[in-house]
Amino acid sequence: MNALCWMNGSILPASEARLPVLDHGLLYGDGVFEGIRFYYGRPFRLDAHLARLARSARAIALDLPLERPVLAAAVDALIDALGAGEGYLRLVVTRGVGALGISPASCQAPNVFIIAAPLQLVDEATRARGARVIVASTRRLPLDGLDPRIKSLNYLNHVLARIEAQNAGADEAILLNAAGRVAEGSADNVFIEHEGVLYTPPVCEGALAGVTRALILELAEERGLPCREQPLAPYDLYTADACFLTGTGAELIPVREIDGRPLPQVPGAHFGRLAEAFRACVRRECEAA
Ligand code: PMP
Repeated sequence: MNALCWMNGSILPASEARLPVLDHGLLYGDGVFEGIRFYYGRPFRLDAHLARLARSARAIALDLPLERPVLAAAVDALIDALGAGEGYLRLVVTRGVGALGISPASCQAPNVFIIAAPLQLVDEATRARGARVIVASTRRLPLDGLDPRIKSLNYLNHVLARIEAQNAGADEAILLNAAGRVAEGSADNVFIEHEGVLYTPPVCEGALAGVTRALILELAEERGLPCREQPLAPYDLYTADACFLTGTGAELIPVREIDGRPLPQVPGAHFGRLAEAFRACVRRECEAA
């Protein structure tokens, strides 16, 4: 099944969708986006994604040209047209076409498009045996550079970190912040388990406020699993009992090795309960909707 694209109110094969070369999203990475899963033909946690999109847009002074109900209706229409129960959506808002200079002042109208694809982003074998992870030498950008809470079209340091992982024969890279503490994965948030307690770095350490991360914190609390948002060093990763990654694409993936150091538990003691709770939440919110 081929990917489809919603663009300016019409749906067409993604391979035929076109954007002008003068769009500042392409020229400068000037824009914002969301990655959204759908299950049972329904988008998962769409409100949280659209709220984050709105925050990202406000943070870069980009006026979203479409109201939330219009975006939600476009998402529904696209999922229906794709005809797959499960898949991934990429909602992108660019600054739009402007002059060649960097200033967005000449950009008249943002472009909005949504791509839908039935594919899984993660290799199921990796999910089953656990991911091999490295700590990348490429750092997450500091808050006063480009705030990592903005889900912008600038992903180059994540791409470079992922190349490092690939070159090391690993599945994913963890980026540190400028102070050398753990920020997040190249496209996911990081949790560790240590002596029965779950830890994840606070968002101000340089992480995206992940929708899946927030859900895991919620599910852990509901189940009385001790969970702390706390700064972490690479040392904490290396000495953890277990580690897992969370994200829209990743869902939950156990980690089996970090920088060549095998983790003692793959998955950790709490992983199974959280993964099951995650599945139940998806069913409750999407299947029943
Ligand atoms: N961090 C980064 C840099 C990401 O790109 C993603 C994927 N959106 C995440 C974390 C996970 O966030 P979410 O659970 O909202 O997909």
